[in-house]
Amino acid sequence: MGDVARRLAVLGSTGSIGTQTLSVVRAYPDRFQVVGIGARRGSDTFLAQVQEFQPALVSLSGPGDFWDMTAQPVSLEEMASHPDVDVVVVAIPGLAALAPTLAALRAGKAVALASKEVLVVAGRLAMEEAARTGAPILPVDSEHNALWQCLVGERGRDEVARLILTASGGPFRDWTLEEMAAVTPAQALAHPTWRMGPKVTVDSATLMNKGFEVMEAHWLYGVLYERIGVVVHPQSIVHSLVEFADGTLKAQLSNPSMTLPIQYALTYPERWERPMSLRSLDLAAMGPLTFEAVDEEKFRCFRLARRAAESGDTYPAVLSAADEEAVALFLARRIPFLAIPSLIEEVLSRHTPVTSPSLDDLLEADAWARRHAHQYMGVALS
Ligand code: MG
Repeated sequence: MGDVARRLAVLGSTGSIGTQTLSVVRAYPDRFQVVGIGARRGSDTFLAQVQEFQPALVSLSGPGDFWDMTAQPVSLEEMASHPDVDVVVVAIPGLAALAPTLAALRAGKAVALASKEVLVVAGRLAMEEAARTGAPILPVDSEHNALWQCLVGERGRDEVARLILTASGGPFRDWTLEEMAAVTPAQALAHPTWRMGPKVTVDSATLMNKGFEVMEAHWLYGVLYERIGVVVHPQSIVHSLVEFADGTLKAQLSNPSMTLPIQYALTYPERWERPMSLRSLDLAAMGPLTFEAVDEEKFRCFRLARRAAESGDTYPAVLSAADEEAVALFLARRIPFLAIPSLIEEVLSRHTPVTSPSLDDLLEADAWARRHAHQYMGVALS
């Protein structure tokens, strides 16, 4: 892309990934142009972003007014497929990310992907669309971005023996099951190494998030589930590894940062200056790096996710929806922490899968799972 500014649409501009994306843009005002920003609500943050970046297009999916803006209001799908956009940053939580991502891929746009649900729920559809138009999916999540960086310059998946995702282990890594039974929302929201939104923070505490990431890695890199491993690495310095056919392991390391993977996704194949917020890694001063296996007895969500992944079809959609409902119920103090996997398991066990699901089938499975999560709340608690 050379000296021409990269033209971005940022979907989910006021969230954690969205604001950090705009901080990367702010560091390189001549090399990026923000063509569109979209958010759920017209908050003060959103208005300030519109004033600072002067996008031509804006999108609000919920309440908000545009009376003092010169930007053109459009839908997220229109923004994602707009001819003036080169790269679509997808950072909207939940299923709302699906339609605009598919629209962007259909239009052949590069998609810098942060929203988990796209590949977890609709991995096959998204990858088929991307393959058809040649649109690249650039993973923003630190683990998948690390795998990508390890794979750059290699010859292909035939030479990949294993993908190894790292997991911080969350705040309850050293807790017993008895201690975990009394976990409060405040404790689950206090992640040791990463600052993220509430849903993904609780998913990191249950390790459901790592299960989702296994699915995303499978779709992004076309590697079989049996060749995707997870290792707990509490320091969050090694962001993931690839083992190759000859036994070599490549890893990507840095201090924990979301800005770095966002910047890599937006500047690939180039590497620009280190983000200001990222401290250089001092290996000698860092202290030991440790690795341990995932305790699947304690973190049942992780096992449920792997099982749903291997079953495929509509199971991952049901897992994702049931998890979102269970996490909301936990944060509302209506179910205890350890009932999160019980409730998800209950919903999964009652699901009749649809094979080769269409987008409508996936949305229907999602709605079914949400209804049944509430219906079976009592069963999960007993
Ligand atoms: Mg991650």
